Amino acid sequence: MLIDITCFTCYENFSEDIEIYDGVHQEIIDCEVCCRPNKLFIEQKNGEVIQLNISDGNE
Ligand SMILES: [Zn+2]
Repeated sequence: MLIDITCFTCYENFSEDIEIYDGVHQEIIDCEVCCRPNKLFIEQKNGEVIQLNISDGNE
């Protein structure tokens, strides 16, 4: 499933294809623009993203 991500470092928007996974998981995604890591906290339910938090992947 494609989700829209706003980079924590440069604030550019890009899309990332993530797996459909019911529940909560975290993923590190490198920004397509500045290549800095973003830590994603994703909560999905019934194939929908109900919560998405993006923080600094370097912390
Ligand atoms: Zn970026």
